[in-house]
Amino acid sequence: MKYEIVSSEDTIEVCQCASKHVPRPLRLAVIRTKTGPVTLCPTSLMNLSQLLWELDLTDGDPLGSITKHYGKYIRDLADQIYEGSEAGVH
Ligand SMILES: [Zn+2]
Repeated sequence: MKYEIVSSEDTIEVCQCASKHVPRPLRLAVIRTKTGPVTLCPTSLMNLSQLLWELDLTDGDPLGSITKHYGKYIRDLADQIYEGSEAGVH
């Protein structure tokens, strides 16, 4: 997964993992997806990266005891990116 780090002062985009981030992160990551760029806070970037690793490790089928540690937003995003990479989109 490729991403770009941006200063939160340089973007109005926000991470969708929670309704509000307090305090607002100083840096955000922008990843590219099939449906366009997605902005993530550092926690979401780390969680997404870890879940994609789990998906790779298990051929897309990690145990529920693993996925339960990730929120729906990150699980949906990881599924979308993982399926896209299987189809050769990335
Ligand atoms: Zn977030």
